[in-house]
Amino acid sequence: MEYLPHLRHAEADGVKIHISALDRLFSQYIRTRDHWTCQRCGKVHPPPTMALHYAHTYKRRHQLTRWDADNADALCYGCHQYFEEHWPEHLTWKRQRIGHPRFQRLTRRHQMVGRVDVVATALYYRQQLQSPERR
Ligand SMILES: [Zn+2]
Repeated sequence: MEYLPHLRHAEADGVKIHISALDRLFSQYIRTRDHWTCQRCGKVHPPPTMALHYAHTYKRRHQLTRWDADNADALCYGCHQYFEEHWPEHLTWKRQRIGHPRFQRLTRRHQMVGRVDVVATALYYRQQLQSPERR
């Protein structure tokens, strides 16, 4: 597993992306994809809001699944907190949500060692947010 203790930004073809900027973009993407609705309790939190989080199933310190859309869901503060305290239940919920084959692939990606192309990932999510019909 790969960790991100020191990586602050990435650069390719003159495009510089800060990790925190990609995190914000990814958060916006996940909550938009999930219609600003907590995926566990169903409560809607229209933007702009701080009450709806994007929650990772596998912790975000693992680079290969940090910006993986299968690894994140929009959750309200209470449900995020609940899953933090009941991780096995979070895993079961996630497996039901995306189906067993996708969950297995996600788990394999989580266990792999490698680096994410941060710039390409940022460009991808920026494009997804601009073209909702392609989601
Ligand atoms: Zn909730």
